[in-house]
Amino acid sequence: MQRGAHIIDGKAVAARLRIKIAEKVQALPYRPGLTVVLVGEDPASTVYVRNKERAAHEVGFESNTIRLPVDTSQSALHACITQLNEDPGVDGILVQLPLPSHIDAGLIVRAIDPLKDVDGFHPENVAALALGMPRLVPCTPRGILLLLREAEVPLRGARAIVLGRSNIVGRPVASLLLAADATVTIAHSRTRDIASECRRCDILIAAIGRAEFVRGDWIAPGATVIDVGINRGTHGGLVGDVAFGEAVSVAGVITPVPGGVGPMTIACLLENTLIAAAARRG
Ligand code: NAP
Repeated sequence: MQRGAHIIDGKAVAARLRIKIAEKVQALPYRPGLTVVLVGEDPASTVYVRNKERAAHEVGFESNTIRLPVDTSQSALHACITQLNEDPGVDGILVQLPLPSHIDAGLIVRAIDPLKDVDGFHPENVAALALGMPRLVPCTPRGILLLLREAEVPLRGARAIVLGRSNIVGRPVASLLLAADATVTIAHSRTRDIASECRRCDILIAAIGRAEFVRGDWIAPGATVIDVGINRGTHGGLVGDVAFGEAVSVAGVITPVPGGVGPMTIACLLENTLIAAAARRG
């Protein structure tokens, strides 16, 4: 009889990771430097950047935020990135996305030194991951793999489905699962009969941005469900891409929203910064 899933406490896993990072920083002869660049005053981005700044400070990083006006030109932002690339005290550079529409975000991401690209979005880092030689890996996918490992979910030979093929979540998480020897299906808005595809899988990663899209009867009994979605529910609170109330009685392991994948993203940004610092400084 199915008794209800083990609910992964992403907050607790992230807190443990941050403590581990802080301990490592204490033992270093230098303070890893993370610089976040924020263009404009988008309210959600402002909150994310503040949280990143605080988390970086708490683990002992030299953390700095460059706040630029919304009408900053492409060339001025480019010049700012070049300066950060050349600054030996800066180990990680993160340009908060989305950027204002007059700026070509792709060009800006490509301007970041790949060795300092702690978001893992530079084409060199994307290619390394796609080739199965991951270097700096996007933070949310990295966090998802850590949650799976923490919950001791077997990956080798497991049938996994990733709903969503974005460059930020879907594609990189699929690459990481493949690198861990899972058999991976990537589903998207053109996939036929997504529910049947899901029912065949041992692991379901939902990253589509549609509130409670994945229903309980899409999930194989005992499967692992990782919900990346962050959506406004009908009652105003945050809900994921999975109908949690239905899924929790079918799945074997599941992440809640909030408190699942979300907290891992910043913790993995810190870990990426530490990795970048170690790679640059030896
Ligand atoms: P995105 O860039 O909008 O991509 C959404 C993906 O979902 C696309 O590949 C799209 O398919 C697919 N999709 C949309 N509707 C679908 C449908 N009805 N059936 C099947 N596939 C569908 O989104 P994202 O940036 O990857 O983010 C996804 C969700 O994760 C969002 O809720 C976002 O807020 C959340 N998120 C959370 C974190 C975190 O830290 N927890 C981090 C990043 C994102 P097509 O490619 O065919 O259009």
